[in-house]
Amino acid sequence: MGKVTGFKEFERKDESYKAVEERVHNYNEFTVPLSEAEITEQGSRCMDCGIPFCHSGCPLGNLIPDFNHMVHQGEWQKASLILHSTNNFPEFTGRLCPAPCEKSCVLGIIEDPISIENIEKNIVERAFKEGWIKPQEPKNRTGKTIAVVGSGPSGLATAQQLNRAGHLVTVFERDDEVGGLLRYGIPNFKMEKGIIDRRVAILKAEGITFKVNANVGVNVSVDELKAFDAIVLCGGATQRRSLPTPGADADGVVQAMDFLTQQTKVVFGKEVKDQVLATGKDVIVIGGGDTGSDCVGTSNRQGAKSVANFEIMPKPPGHRSPSTPWPYWPLQLKTSTSHKEGCDRNWLINTKEFIKDENGKLIALKTVNVEWKMVPGQRPQLIEIEGTEKTWPCDLALLALGFTGPEATIAEQLGIELDARSNYKAEYGNYQTNIPNVFTAGDMRRGQSLIVWAISEGREAARQVDIFLMGKSDLPSKNEAGDLVALH
Ligand SMILES: Cc1cc2nc3c(=O)[nH]c(=O)nc-3n(C[C@H](O)[C@H](O)[C@H](O)COP(=O)(O)OP(=O)(O)OC[C@H]3O[C@@H](n4cnc5c(N)ncnc54)[C@H](O)[C@@H]3O)c2cc1C
Ligand code: SF4
Repeated sequence: MGKVTGFKEFERKDESYKAVEERVHNYNEFTVPLSEAEITEQGSRCMDCGIPFCHSGCPLGNLIPDFNHMVHQGEWQKASLILHSTNNFPEFTGRLCPAPCEKSCVLGIIEDPISIENIEKNIVERAFKEGWIKPQEPKNRTGKTIAVVGSGPSGLATAQQLNRAGHLVTVFERDDEVGGLLRYGIPNFKMEKGIIDRRVAILKAEGITFKVNANVGVNVSVDELKAFDAIVLCGGATQRRSLPTPGADADGVVQAMDFLTQQTKVVFGKEVKDQVLATGKDVIVIGGGDTGSDCVGTSNRQGAKSVANFEIMPKPPGHRSPSTPWPYWPLQLKTSTSHKEGCDRNWLINTKEFIKDENGKLIALKTVNVEWKMVPGQRPQLIEIEGTEKTWPCDLALLALGFTGPEATIAEQLGIELDARSNYKAEYGNYQTNIPNVFTAGDMRRGQSLIVWAISEGREAARQVDIFLMGKSDLPSKNEAGDLVALH
């Protein structure tokens, strides 16, 4: 535990942010870290609550009270060992996780919860700074070969775990850089891409081979993959949802992922032909999730004239809704740092038409206000409210409507079954598809989700692959208490 009276003595303190006027002029991270003394105090707030619900709140089963205690004691290296025993990449989750653990923190019932995510970030950053995170090559090689398709957080976690078990791992990535959505979805201002490069350098030094511009099923045949002893498919859920609304073919209606990817490429000096820019435009972002929020932040950095955000669902309550009591993930309004940089947020609004000029250029959006009618035993019905039609000037509409599932190319070519939601079918727990030596993890198996889940699935799938190949596994599993393989 932290300090017996820590939670009574110290209030929660979070890292702060550079001023909006300063940060919207570049694409860098803008957090201002707490001092070491402040973080130590935050660690000491952990109150040894007996049953740490945060363990199960975290999809990785992170040993949160244990690393909080070490931080409070100033034992940073031990904290790092504990943290890395369950999480391959705390530098990703420490920046980007929505931190369900904090929503299930017992202290959170009566006060602000422990700042777990920020403590996690400080531990891993300290570990990198001190040089404690070093490549760890396996002592023995098994001679077995593994192909991992996709280099997002699930592919990277799978690869690192299987390499630790002594197998020879090759990661195939169709993009020109490794990282999946961490690289080309999430903007640089939320996580600078050097954070990925720093970790990938460790993975390479540990003996993992990365092949980029390698699109499996297109320029790398699935027959090439069949030469490996096992295949793990971590291709994400990349099929974007579109909006079948009149005028959606207008010049100026753009998929959010195209907009975000282009900007990240430009930040890194890559050539982007005809970049879509928000500069000087009235921008409307359709879709109120993480992707929509990232579009808001990017539009403001590009110098948009105005930014509005539309969401078809009702505005969530400001505080935890009674329908999602502690320790559940709360239904509650989320306001991101991007929203705070300037955004007119609108709920219960539906786009009826994209209006274009005679040249096919988008000039406005027609909307209507809606409500959801709940009929017991039936799906909620969307009702338009008469007389609420409105026209919004708009030169750029960004579609941030989520993803419908993974691409089917590899499934078709290898003969893999899909589930009812068109995800690659494999049971949670064994990650094995209908082809015995082909496994799948992350968004490709569970649908669009979170980084923390992708890492968790990658770790657990790796263990199942190891058992499949070797009959047993020493790789840790979150389902096995005390299985603490403390490796960086
Ligand atoms: C804009 C945006 C913002 C987000 N923000 C957050 C956030 O703040 N916090 C959070 O927790 N989650 C966030 N998410 C969700 C999170 O990024 C994903 O859940 C996570 O990245 C999934 O990891 P993955 O490894 O399963 O798939 P991905 O990260 O999607 O990686 C899949 C990789 O597979 C590659 N691939 C696909 N097919 C092939 C093929 N045939 N051959 C070779 N390579 C292939 C792709 O190019 C990609 O690199 C966000 C998502 C988006 C879109
Ligand atoms: S990975 Fe996410 S849920 Fe797990 S401890 Fe870190 S912030 Fe909490």
